Amino acid sequence: MCGIVGYIGTQEAYPILIKGLHRLEYRGYDSAGIALINGKGTLSVYKEKGKVSALEASVAESDTSGTIGIAHTRWATHGEPNATNAHPHYSQSKNLALVHNGIIENYKSLRTMLEKNGITFCSDTDTEVLVQLVEYMQHSHNCDLFTAVQLALKNVIGAYAIAIIEKTHPDRLVCARKGSPLIIGVGKSDNGRAEFYLGSDATPIVEYTKQVIYLNDEEIASMDRSGKLEITNLSNVKQTPQLVTLQLDLDQLEKGGFPHFMLKEIWEQPNALRTCIRGRLNVVEKDVLLSGIIDHKEKFLNCKRIIICACGTSWHSALIGKYFIEEACQLPVEVEYASEFRYRNPVIHPDDVVIAVSQSGETADTLAAIQLAKEHGAFLYGICNVIGSSIARATDSGTYLHVGPEIGVASTKAFTGQVITLCLLGLAIAKEKKTLSDEMFHMLVDELQQIPDKMQWTLENNKHIDQFAQMFTYCKNFIYLGRGYNYPVALEGALKLKEISYIHAEGYPAAEMKHGPIALVDEEMPVVVIAPKRGMYDKVVSNIQEIKSRKGKIISVVTKGDSVVRGMSDYSFVIPDTRDCYVPLLAVIPLQLLSYYVAVAKGRNVDQPRNLAKSVTVE
Ligand code: GLU
Repeated sequence: MCGIVGYIGTQEAYPILIKGLHRLEYRGYDSAGIALINGKGTLSVYKEKGKVSALEASVAESDTSGTIGIAHTRWATHGEPNATNAHPHYSQSKNLALVHNGIIENYKSLRTMLEKNGITFCSDTDTEVLVQLVEYMQHSHNCDLFTAVQLALKNVIGAYAIAIIEKTHPDRLVCARKGSPLIIGVGKSDNGRAEFYLGSDATPIVEYTKQVIYLNDEEIASMDRSGKLEITNLSNVKQTPQLVTLQLDLDQLEKGGFPHFMLKEIWEQPNALRTCIRGRLNVVEKDVLLSGIIDHKEKFLNCKRIIICACGTSWHSALIGKYFIEEACQLPVEVEYASEFRYRNPVIHPDDVVIAVSQSGETADTLAAIQLAKEHGAFLYGICNVIGSSIARATDSGTYLHVGPEIGVASTKAFTGQVITLCLLGLAIAKEKKTLSDEMFHMLVDELQQIPDKMQWTLENNKHIDQFAQMFTYCKNFIYLGRGYNYPVALEGALKLKEISYIHAEGYPAAEMKHGPIALVDEEMPVVVIAPKRGMYDKVVSNIQEIKSRKGKIISVVTKGDSVVRGMSDYSFVIPDTRDCYVPLLAVIPLQLLSYYVAVAKGRNVDQPRNLAKSVTVE
């Protein structure tokens, strides 16, 4: 969940580490810290509650020299977010400093054992047991840091990405991972030797090198200032590192003139989706080409059911995917919260296809859900945005979103990227299964091609939302309603508002209103209704009447040219007409803008909403 940065080489480490922390701040921002060993062999740890900028201010007068260091931005799981619990953590002798991402599940028993052996703890974190345990192993086995880390990790239950430095050996940085991602960047120092960068994702590394190694679970790496890199597993068996080239550009990580990443990413959607469908959707040949499906055609032709596992926004896109695939492929699809699925002993057959949807590809619950499905022999398919991520590597096949890095904590372009990818997947399966007429298939292909342009139109015609967002800042609650394909859009619209403005919001299937939520409606209650002039239009019109009779304020998403719902609404957002199944891709745009501008009007930190982090790599 948190961010880790590390460096060893000939350059000053501090500017690299601080810049890296800024790039990673979207992953966690409860506190930040840094450990450096200077030229005189002094190991210093600086840490501060709050943002990276608070850390920078606090070290302004301190010695931050040194060519080796590790840094961390925390999303607290164990222990309050304060300076004491911030990482890096020292070992008892202060010879070691360690940063950690993840959760150590058996930290209590380890801590008791270490305390019995005379070790005193300073923090309330699970993390501190790691550094104390490593030092304990060094002393009890009289071994070097690398061996001590191997020995220590054999006793650890849980998930970790760690980086450690040692005062008495300032020429070596050691790291390890299990269940939490860690990437080593291999650069070149002035003297021509390798220098090493470390990141919990690629964002702090890409500026310096594109040559990276993705560490695998239960691997330990030692990076030496002389340029030597050694990787083993926990049993000390040597592993051969695979050097890969990053597909990421620096300008993709900048705000590009927008005040927030979220707004930039909202506006990026038309182009991001063009990239997503490029080479996959062929309007001339009227074809859909997904290599992940083509290469495993028989799995999709023979499967009796698809199960999609996801969390949060990805769960909403999965629900739209279910509606699409069931309609187009006549194949039952179940959508599961990965966190529930993994623990409830679900029925999984070897002829099931299990799809994992996750922007980061690191979502801990989703990863565990597919591991469970693998044990039952199901075919695993990943839909992720981050290339080389754990889910992408753990699945049998899959499709990348290719929408570019998503930095804003509230997901926007990844959501639409997931929806369009699931539509492509549905079309590709339908083509193999011949469940759609040629005419319908061609029409769906043609219309999907139009979506990025229609999205652009939607953005241009809803820019004005900023002018009236202020009016909703006083609201305590919102209700979002939609039917059919737009029910998941209602859920997503409500989630966006909650996440970044902290206004309570609920999404409901419009007809379910009568079964409870309508009791909440009064003149104070804004009700956002997705009411395109399609499928269940008349039914939605009746639902709007019911709300109006209770004096609720109607904010509607309507099709261009509609006057009926517009006339009934207090505010309307207009979208172009499209097929029912593609309406979510357009209808979600004004809802993203609404939540963004309400949050800005309320003075919220849009890109770093409280208590949230971008990728949930802990359970
Ligand atoms: N479990 C550790 C803590 O609470 C690490 C959390 C993180 O991944 O940021 O300090």
